[in-house]
Amino acid sequence: MPSLLRLLNTGNTADVFPALVMTISVIAAVAHLSFIMLFDSAGVGAMARINVASVLLYALAGLLVHGGRTLLAFSLVMLEVVAHGVLAVWVVGWDTGFHYYIILIVPVAIVGSLGSARNKAVVAVLAALFYMGLDVVFRKATPLYALPSHVLNSLHYFNLASTLLMLGLFATVYYRLVAEAQARLHDQACTDPLTQLRNRRFALEAAQHEAAVFARDGRPLALVMGDVDHFKRVNDQHGHEGGDMALKAVAQTLKGGVREIDHVARWGGEEFLLLLPGTAHDEARHVAERLRRQVSQTELRLPSGLAALSITLGVSILAPGETVEQALARADRALYEGKERGRNRVIVAPEPDQAAQV
Ligand code: GH3
Ligand code: MG
Ligand code: MG
Repeated sequence: MPSLLRLLNTGNTADVFPALVMTISVIAAVAHLSFIMLFDSAGVGAMARINVASVLLYALAGLLVHGGRTLLAFSLVMLEVVAHGVLAVWVVGWDTGFHYYIILIVPVAIVGSLGSARNKAVVAVLAALFYMGLDVVFRKATPLYALPSHVLNSLHYFNLASTLLMLGLFATVYYRLVAEAQARLHDQACTDPLTQLRNRRFALEAAQHEAAVFARDGRPLALVMGDVDHFKRVNDQHGHEGGDMALKAVAQTLKGGVREIDHVARWGGEEFLLLLPGTAHDEARHVAERLRRQVSQTELRLPSGLAALSITLGVSILAPGETVEQALARADRALYEGKERGRNRVIVAPEPDQAAQV
């Protein structure tokens, strides 16, 4: 059980099926050990012996999972569940509820790693049909041994509770797998594969969020748009791979040069967008200036030689009533101005009303 929960927490989904079968085997072995004692004390020797066989079978299933043969272990577990269910309802009666466990094969077969959807459907449908057949044959039949009613009751509620517990466990496993997969997909959808920075889509979402915070609480937001200077030359001199390494180096410098709460995203090609919440004019200029300096001091050793890098940055501070798109356009214009003025510099955009007067 701890290993199953650990796997689910670490998102190591490939190993979940073996862990699930192992967990079932351990829980079932312990439960069947207690059945041995119960049937022994109730004087039903046949059922006590069946449970000894079950414990041995679950131990074998555990060993098989340990040895990497999960599918064989799962088949053994299914066989035990079915055989035990049939024998128990035949010998001690339908009211003991040993047949409930057969129902569990349906969800485990579907969630587990049985290969194709067809395999899963075949196992699930066979288990369901078998259960229905068992119901038809045994629900009203007289058992071979009539257990005392208190033993019958205990068994019934124990089996019912165990089945519900198992269903809860399977649902938890399934829910965690889905939630984990969703989180991973979302993370992938927001991440630039080359630089591992956030991508444009995430940056836009984050900017909208920060703009809402600004509108509500007045926390300022600085937007810094950066574009690597003469990047075509880097590609020309060092090849596309060299260019990629340069982009990664710039990304690292930018990411390492700001706070945890700041967002650094790859806006496209060799362009980067930084969002600095709680940062206004002078401070935003200082941050951008520091980043510019750090990039220009990068000595990137590529297989084809040293690459000199620099970046031009345009800064805008989101103004009251302004949209994110408008603030981005101002940062972009400031960046363009920086390029025109010779690159490797920081330009802070004028405020919107001032810009309108120009
Ligand atoms: P400027 O200083 O005016 O920004 O000049 P520049 O050469 O950096 O600008 P330009 O926009 O003309 O060229 C950008 C180049 O960046 C062109 C494109 O091939 C390259 N580029 C875009 N994305 C990537 C990438 O993922 N990897 C590599 N290696 N190069 C890329
Ligand atoms: Mg560009
Ligand atoms: Mg460029």
